[in-house]
Amino acid sequence: MNIEQIREAAESESPCLSDKSCIKIYVASSGNNSGADRIFGMFEESLDENGIRGVAIRAGSFGYYDLEPIVVIERPDLYSIFHKNVDADSAAGLIENFLLKDEPVKAGAFCFSGSENTIDAARMSDLPLFNLQRRIALRNCGWIDPGNIHHYVVHGGGYTGLARALSMGPKTFSGELFPSLLDRRLRIGDSTADQWQRFADSEGREKCLICNAMDADPKSVTSRLLLESDPHSVLEGMLIAGHATGASRGILYIAEKAGIARRLRTAADQMRRHNLLGPGILHSDFSFEIEIKYAPESFVTGQWVESFRCLEENQPPPRVIPDLTDFDEYRGNAFIITGPEVLSNLSAVLVKDKEETPGSKVMTLGGCAIHKYTVEIPIQTTIRSIIEEIGGGCASGKPAKAVILGGSAGRFIAPNAFDLEARPAGESQAGIGPDSIEILDAGSSVVDIVRDIAACIHAQSCGKCLFCREGSLQTLNILEDISDNRGKPQDLDLLTELGKDMKTACLCAFGRNAPDPVLSSIELFREEYEERIQASPL
Ligand code: SF4
Repeated sequence: MNIEQIREAAESESPCLSDKSCIKIYVASSGNNSGADRIFGMFEESLDENGIRGVAIRAGSFGYYDLEPIVVIERPDLYSIFHKNVDADSAAGLIENFLLKDEPVKAGAFCFSGSENTIDAARMSDLPLFNLQRRIALRNCGWIDPGNIHHYVVHGGGYTGLARALSMGPKTFSGELFPSLLDRRLRIGDSTADQWQRFADSEGREKCLICNAMDADPKSVTSRLLLESDPHSVLEGMLIAGHATGASRGILYIAEKAGIARRLRTAADQMRRHNLLGPGILHSDFSFEIEIKYAPESFVTGQWVESFRCLEENQPPPRVIPDLTDFDEYRGNAFIITGPEVLSNLSAVLVKDKEETPGSKVMTLGGCAIHKYTVEIPIQTTIRSIIEEIGGGCASGKPAKAVILGGSAGRFIAPNAFDLEARPAGESQAGIGPDSIEILDAGSSVVDIVRDIAACIHAQSCGKCLFCREGSLQTLNILEDISDNRGKPQDLDLLTELGKDMKTACLCAFGRNAPDPVLSSIELFREEYEERIQASPL
């Protein structure tokens, strides 16, 4: 099949999807949600029974978890309405009133878009949640059935980017265009762009693309959201990257407990049936295979430089891993490591000419934020804007006193830096920066929070090297003492010394990043630690 035939097949299977005059009902929620399944069934039945020209779509998640199940009804003749926390009763009300009588339903209406403000709800375009976002990687999340390749093709122009890349030929596309496109779009930084360039230019060995979909930090859900709600955008990105760099094989590894393996296997089967995987993809001379692997769920395996270790059946002892300034080798082959967010961006960039835009970053809000959403924001968005406009501020009503940028092993940022971009350019080795932001309100105890983080880090250390195994334990013991008013005046110097030693002596990136919350919080909130120590009876 070629791309036109795939598109025709998709449109003929579900003509309503591409028909602008057709009513569309999206029932969106995360994972398996029996409530959302029931609501979807109610809408599907009502369309059938009442002979309404429309389609009900059991969509993935938008990333607005506390609003789920979400129902969006697009009525081309009226307006689109976005309802939150829909249950069977409110779904029945929407069917009875909005679908059958054309009357708006106020209860649960979150916002709307369209011509007339006939309901008591905000316009989508007025809400920061929508107007501050720039959804490129997450463009299809909540808007397609992730289990149906035809939805991806019709709604998101799926696989058009791949067809375009194939039409450009490997030499035209790989050259300088590919890494510079990644750099402009994602600000991956010079060293990562060079790394991709050298990988593309290398010859003589089998090349393999590794997609680390582990979500290194438990507070980050970017990979999971993308693979659950829009798996084809990631898989298409793997094909595009493979074609651009001359790789013939891709390995996507996920947490063994993530429960998304079936979705990925279904997606891969659909790709194979549509001539999108295997030999001669879309009648070209490009062939590519994708293998799905599992790794134990932990901070350690989620670290992208640990990918090689995760791919080996018998995990070897820890070793010093190079900074991967060049593409690495694994069993004699050349490898490059990337993640679902980068790959999902690739497929979008090649469909629309978005490469000149500044780019965006997926982030999940947590901690004291009112709204703990996963959103995609323009790269220049400030921390303050994320806290106040998207997160809605702190649930307690108190001001934010700090954020932890980058999850459990991230850095503390104080309010005097809230007007900086949340994602500085070239921030990380992977080039895509932190993907979670934890907000602390004025009533939060920095000492107790860092103690909890240290406990989590110690529990996740694989224990194979001394500085991480013992360093994380000693750090935890000292922090527990300070937290329980048993601290000693020399403890802060000891914590700082331990942290610095771990940063230089730990074998892997996990251990080297682990002291960051301790070191950055002591630097910014030393007085809080000192107060606890002074309150100690000794
Ligand atoms: S730094 Fe920690 S997680 Fe990494 S190898 Fe050493 S003990 Fe294991």
